[in-house]
Amino acid sequence: MGTEAFVELVCPDCRKHWESTPSKLPAPDQSFDCPDCGTRRRLAEFTRTSLDLEVVRDATSRGSAGGESS
Ligand SMILES: [Zn+2]
Repeated sequence: MGTEAFVELVCPDCRKHWESTPSKLPAPDQSFDCPDCGTRRRLAEFTRTSLDLEVVRDATSRGSAGGESS
């Protein structure tokens, strides 16, 4: 039983709107291809709200060595 978080994504180019789970997404600073029009931008530019961005950032920083920059 896990709470599956969904994030809302919007393509800044073609305005495609869809939902995905953070586990399927790269980190916000990684480039991501729109599944519809193929435009490539940082994932952070696809998140619909800052909350969606935080959910992705939280999910993707866990498990990888990206969380500690001091
Ligand atoms: Zn697009």
